[in-house]
Amino acid sequence: MNLKDFFIGMSQNQLLNSSAKKYGLKLGAQSVVAGTNVQDMIQSVKELNNTGISATIDNLGEFVTEKEEAIKAKNQILEVIEAIRTNEVDAHISLKPTQLGLDIDYDFCKQNLKEIAYKANEYGIFINFDMEDYDHLKPSFDLLDELSMEFDNLGTVIQAYFYESVKNIERYKDYRLRIVKGAYKEPETVAFQNKKDIDQNFLKLIEYHLLSGKFTSIATHDHHVINHVKQFVKENNIPLDKFEFQMLYGFRKDLQLELAKEGYNFCTYVPFGDDWYGYFMRRLAERPQNINLMVKQVFNKKTNTVLGVAAGAFVLGRLSKKRKK
Ligand SMILES: Cc1cc2nc3c(=O)[nH]c(=O)nc-3n(C[C@H](O)[C@H](O)[C@H](O)COP(=O)(O)OP(=O)(O)OC[C@H]3O[C@@H](n4cnc5c(N)ncnc54)[C@H](O)[C@@H]3O)c2cc1C
Repeated sequence: MNLKDFFIGMSQNQLLNSSAKKYGLKLGAQSVVAGTNVQDMIQSVKELNNTGISATIDNLGEFVTEKEEAIKAKNQILEVIEAIRTNEVDAHISLKPTQLGLDIDYDFCKQNLKEIAYKANEYGIFINFDMEDYDHLKPSFDLLDELSMEFDNLGTVIQAYFYESVKNIERYKDYRLRIVKGAYKEPETVAFQNKKDIDQNFLKLIEYHLLSGKFTSIATHDHHVINHVKQFVKENNIPLDKFEFQMLYGFRKDLQLELAKEGYNFCTYVPFGDDWYGYFMRRLAERPQNINLMVKQVFNKKTNTVLGVAAGAFVLGRLSKKRKK
């Protein structure tokens, strides 16, 4: 099993996930998660806004299996919408359909999303449906299709690793879309496996939506892609108000600021809440260097959580294997 698969596996571990909720932000997660409550998150958003950066706020949570939990998540998102308005911050919402009950019942999830879309629409706040794994792709698009009949403040994500994304981007060209490489482990029957193919498709999708689509959020930490986009928009006279760059909170902060200072629209994805575990494990899967965030904590503090033990054992295992080579 490689490092990426290991962390993707960890991200789906229910026991570790529920333990993580009890122990607060650990293992370095506090550097990439903007606190566990609305107040701390709003403070972070204000700080970003002061530097000319807008925010897309994610009340962390996913793959919910209990109705009460999905309703709680809905209420928390409604609270965030109120907080955006009350604090007059430049921000919108990112949410995951599985957090709102997609795995429990499609109509129940739709009803939760409808309440959120209604409130956000009233305040002129945009809602992005984050895209999850392949099993949830079609139902998430179905939800978007149905709710778009009533609301025009909705958009979603196109993941470049899926073969069918070329078809989907054409179908959803009149939507505000975030384009990403894709964060979940998917089989080769549905998704490109190698970096070169994913990168190539990523650029193809970005260029298509920049030329033919409504508004494009280019969500990546990859400076090669960012430089390519800068050149592409210049050559094709694409106005600055047709796109933005997005990165995750806590990653490449200097580059985030630099792009904003250069005059590009920039939006930071701001996750917050106690359900940080799956999100954080996917970040570790994406980039082995991110383990630095975690290793520091595991070695410097006596983390007495089950998480600390699991992660520490794994990191030590990897290090000793490396030394043997
Ligand atoms: C705002 C945002 C929203 C997202 N939403 C979704 C979603 O809804 N669904 C989904 O499946 N995925 C989502 N993702 C995750 C995405 O799919 C990728 O898994 C993730 O962004 C990693 O790919 P990357 O393009 O950033 O670069 P990578 O492929 O991880 O890295 C490419 C290169 O960029 C450079 N680089 C990357 N990170 C760093 C760094 N921290 N410091 C220095 N150099 C670096 C390195 O040279 C690296 O080799 C989102 C990502 C972002 C940024």
